[in-house]
Amino acid sequence: QAAAVAENLTKTYGSGETTVYALREVSATFDRGQFTAIMGPSGSGKSTLMHCLAGLDTASSGRVLIGDTDLSGLKDAAMTKLRRDRIGFVFQSFNLVPTLTAKENITLPLDIAGAAVDKEWFDTVTQRLGLTDRLGHRPSELSGGQVQRVACARALVGRPEIIFGDEPTGNLDSKSSAEVLSILRGAVDDFGQTVVIVTHDPRAASYADRVVFLADGQVVSDQSGLSADDIY
Ligand code: ADP
Ligand code: ADP
Repeated sequence: QAAAVAENLTKTYGSGETTVYALREVSATFDRGQFTAIMGPSGSGKSTLMHCLAGLDTASSGRVLIGDTDLSGLKDAAMTKLRRDRIGFVFQSFNLVPTLTAKENITLPLDIAGAAVDKEWFDTVTQRLGLTDRLGHRPSELSGGQVQRVACARALVGRPEIIFGDEPTGNLDSKSSAEVLSILRGAVDDFGQTVVIVTHDPRAASYADRVVFLADGQVVSDQSGLSADDIY
């Protein structure tokens, strides 16, 4: 069974002569235990597709399934619960809570859900992301790259069924980028999670199982087994 499906998604902005088509009848299936990178030029619809898949935005037509749940049928409360229980987000707008420490931010989704924190996994994730000695710091005391890695740790620590990322390596140096990509790879290989990220980072192709290319709101290529050299 697929982890997520986009069916004939069309998203328009504006109306009449000024209508912008961000997505045109996009269909894609994201299998469980698969790591997909979505690439393409700026303005090709990558963020819009990601936001529709993650239930953060609604398409003008078409539908999105997470597992066998049709998002268009969900009321706000059910959507919030689905996002909280089943989806991890690594987005550019990190939404870290400024008054909480890195550690508290990382475990916040689990604390809100009343779920236990797997201490061993927490230690593994924070260690691999180089956060071990930053856990007591608040976001304002962290570098941009550290803030981004905290957001990544927060998305991973509860082992959600599906992880969505929007430029998860966007502001990171190459060492941190490699750590983030390899930990996402590990989420798939070790825990069977599903990962879908939007990225401009050619290195992501070497970690992903599949690269979906968008142009002008359409899927123009969908390939498996690419490496970074195929993108550069
Ligand atoms: P990408 O993530 O590939 O850069 P986006 O999904 O952000 O592309 O945008 C796709 C298209 O939709 C672009 O032409 C963009 O200008 C347009 N667009 C995105 N968001 C809005 C918005 N809120 N209002 C109007 N147009 C938008
Ligand atoms: P972009 O990638 O185009 O810059 P953002 O990442 O800033 O877009 O986020 C776009 C929308 O998604 C915003 O409305 C933001 O509030 C929402 N969003 C981002 N991250 C999360 C999150 N972790 N949980 C809920 N909503 C989020």
